Order: sequence, then C-alpha cells, then structure tokens
Amino acid sequence: MIEHQPAPDAIVVGGGIIGCTLAYELQKRKINTLLLEHGKIGREASWATAGIMGPPSAAGLPLHRAALAEISHKLFPALLESVEEDGGVPSSYLPIGKVLIARTEDEVELAQAQINWQINHGIDATWIEPDEVRQLEPMIPHDILGAFYSADGGTLTGHRWTESVAAAFQAIGGQIRERCPAVSILTDGERVTGVDTPDGPISTRTVVLSAGAWTRFLGPAIERSLPLIPFKGQMIGVLPESAADRPRHVIGKITGGYLVPRIDGSVAVGASLEDIGFDKRVTAFGLEYAMELMQSLGPGLRNAEVVSTWAGLRPGTADDTPLMGPVPGYDGLWVSTGHHRTGIQLAPGSAVLVADAIATGKPDELLEHFSLERFS
Ligand SMILES: Cc1cc2nc3c(=O)[nH]c(=O)nc-3n(C[C@H](O)[C@H](O)[C@H](O)COP(=O)(O)OP(=O)(O)OC[C@H]3O[C@@H](n4cnc5c(N)ncnc54)[C@H](O)[C@@H]3O)c2cc1C
Repeated sequence: MIEHQPAPDAIVVGGGIIGCTLAYELQKRKINTLLLEHGKIGREASWATAGIMGPPSAAGLPLHRAALAEISHKLFPALLESVEEDGGVPSSYLPIGKVLIARTEDEVELAQAQINWQINHGIDATWIEPDEVRQLEPMIPHDILGAFYSADGGTLTGHRWTESVAAAFQAIGGQIRERCPAVSILTDGERVTGVDTPDGPISTRTVVLSAGAWTRFLGPAIERSLPLIPFKGQMIGVLPESAADRPRHVIGKITGGYLVPRIDGSVAVGASLEDIGFDKRVTAFGLEYAMELMQSLGPGLRNAEVVSTWAGLRPGTADDTPLMGPVPGYDGLWVSTGHHRTGIQLAPGSAVLVADAIATGKPDELLEHFSLERFS
C-alpha cells in the first residue's frame, strides 16, 4: 500500500500535456490531486509534438470542436502566465504566427475559406500575395499562388511546456509519481475507490484517465471499451547554418506539413500521419516525408544539420473528436484524452471543462459532444 497522507481527492492517470494541465486545474480548485505517470512526465506524444499553437483554423470543423478550440485559444495566455508565475519554469513559447502556402487553385480556395471562417470568429487572418509572402519569409520557393497569414499563435516545445505545467502543479501542492503506472482502477460496485499500481493500491474517490493512446489498455479493468487509436507521427529536427536561414514563422502547406522554429534554434519538420499501431520506430518513410516537406517549403534548409529524428503516437478516435467526461456506469471515474493532432492546442480548454465538471458535479453542456457514450 502506498501511503499518501491524506489520501488524494483525485488521481489523474497520465503525465502528458492533457493530464498535467488537468491536474493543475484541479489543484487550483483545491482538489488535492496525485498525478501518476508510467514513465517520465511529457515523454510521449507531448514530447514528439510539433507544438503549433493558435486559434482553430479549419473551416468546416464541427461546431463543438471549434468551440473547444476557441475556448482553449482564449484561455492560453492566462494559463501561460500562471504556469510561469506558479512554477517558475519558462514555457518555451514563441509567439511567431504562421504562413500557410497555397500552390493550386483548390488550395487557394481552402485558404480563403479558412480566412473567412477566422474573420467571422473575430480572429486575425489575411491572404497575402507571393511578393508579400517572400518579404515575410524569403526562404519560401517562388512557385506559389499566395498564402494564408496569421500573426496569432506560435509554437511550444512540447516536453518543456509539459514540464512547466507539471512544475506549476507541484508548486501549488500537487503530487507527481513518475515510473508508477496505473495497472487497474479499483471499484466498489459502481463507486471508484482508487487506483492499483505496481507499488500497491492508492485510495481516492475521483480518477481521470488521461493516458493518451495507452488509455485503451485501462478499458478491460473497468469493462468498458476506451477506443483510442495510436496515430504515428514522425519528424526530424534540423539546425540551420545561420539565424538568417531560420524560418521567422511557422511555415506550412495549407493542406498540412510544417517547418516549426523552436526556442533552441532548431527547426522541427513534419509530421507524417500513420495508422500502424503502437510503433514508434523512425523509418525511411518518415525521413523521406520530412525531406520532401523541407524541399517543398524551405529548400534553403538543405545544408542544415539533421540533429534529431523522432516518432510519437497521437491519441486518436474513430470520429476525430476527443473523449472527455464521466465514464458511464461509474461514480467518480472520468476520461480526458483522444485529442489527436491538436492536444497541445486543446489542453487549456479541455482541462478547465473537465476540472469544472469534477469540482461542481455539473458538466458543461459542451462536454456532451465529447462523451464516451457515443461509442457504446
Ligand atoms: C508528430 C506529432 C506532431 C504533433 N503536432 C501537434 C501540433 O502542432 N499542435 C498540437 O496541438 N498537437 C500536436 N500533436 C498532438 C499532441 O502532441 C497530442 O494530442 C498531445 O500531446 C496528447 O497529449 P496526451 O497527454 O493526451 O498524451 P501523451 O503525451 O501521450 O501522454 C500520455 C501519458 O500517459 C502515460 N501513461 C500511459 N499509460 C499509463 C498508465 N497506465 N499509467 C500512468 N501513465 C500512463 C504515458 O507514459 C504518457 O506520458 C502532435 C503529435 C505528434 C505525435
């Protein structure tokens, strides 16, 4: 038996950005929280991430997903400030905006739709002609028709940001146990009573499952399907020869694929999207994908040194919508995961919605759209 005196009010399972931000929001609400992490904080998808932050940009996004993205975007500046103030660990945030290029008429149409959508939602975005694009980003090739430009948003280095949030959580009284996986959820009838770990059981009355793609392995213990799908993403990190060769913004294709400047001076390039199970190998396919992207967006980087390669598993769902809210049939059991390609972006709003629901016992209506019940 692990001694926690007093027993935590809540246990969050999983120390990625979703679990850490939620734990921090619970602790802010005076719910004494213990975070259990299988390995080390922020070393899975939240480490592998490109870390692009910003407002929702996809026209045609279902309303509930756009609402979650808008809430998150609005909450992010205050979260950034409180995390740095509480924990004292710099966030790694670069507020550099983004330039997304269009090369075909279809891509121009897509860019215009995204710009109109953003403007209608009060978000800054504009179309820029090729000359202006090259003034902003001289490295972009000439064969473009123009670009979507937004000064809003930027990038975070995933593991640094996750560690900053974890530090803030601890600074206000939260507890973290690394290398301590949840192996089972303990229940008494329909009531949650704790979490079992290799070090012994820990009592609590509220448990939130935020173990990313691995959340699905906790399903059998509670006789529920937690249908997470691991979507592999591969990236490479390059170090430009000089600061002049470094992108000034996130540069991307309007259809996806990015060059992402990071606070350490490197540029992350990617990412692939592969549905091949729990496979984190860096493969020839992943490297080829990143090289083609670099050639297409910033051929001037071809002399940059390749300093790292990596792969991570995004927690996806069949309808590309996160799973958030109470687990049906249990009192005190919650889930918050499945944020797939935008978990860094969506963490602020997801954490506040779930923490408020746990603190008040009254889930916001928006959470209904993210309920696990849609898969039952
Ligand atoms: C290549 C790539 C690029 C991306 N780019 C972006 C982007 O630009 N912008 C964006 O917003 N998002 C992006 N994403 C998505 C984003 O990174 C993820 O949605 C987000 O990191 C998911 O966070 P998480 O906390 O749910 O999962 P994870 O970060 O995977 O964390 C889950 C944690 O749970 C732990 N765990 C597992 N099982 C257990 C257990 N039984 N007990 C305890 N702990 C357990 C794991 O060790 C892990 O630390 C990208 C992802 C990838 C892979």
